[in-house]
Amino acid sequence: MEFDNPCFECGMCCQHFRVSFYHGEIAGNGVGTVPEDLVTMISPHLACMKGTEKGGASCIALRYTQQEGYRCSIYEQRSSACREFNVMNDDGTPNQKCQELQEIARQRKRQGLNPLK
Ligand code: SF4
Ligand code: SF4
Repeated sequence: MEFDNPCFECGMCCQHFRVSFYHGEIAGNGVGTVPEDLVTMISPHLACMKGTEKGGASCIALRYTQQEGYRCSIYEQRSSACREFNVMNDDGTPNQKCQELQEIARQRKRQGLNPLK
């Protein structure tokens, strides 16, 4: 299936990086949004999404269906780390790391590998 949004058929940044952010972004303090049960504390002030502690594995919040492709199940509550990694850089140039990850996603698809690592 082809999607308008390249992220829906890629999902690689949610399966590649350790997705870490300042602990103040965790919900419960009045300003944070990321659900506490989906994060791992990795230092007194730093948290990361469960599943991404070591990198190279899927974030606990990532979902995949054939109909919709990859979707973030906490999209509106996601951290700044997720919001700041995009297909395009702020200056309108392509995000080189994103392009590399999209190529890996295409290779995985050609090899018939599982949608989620
Ligand atoms: S690596 Fe790029 S295209 Fe793939 S999901 Fe992340 S932002 Fe979207
Ligand atoms: S919280 Fe959502 S956008 Fe962020 S890594 Fe997890 S699935 Fe991806």
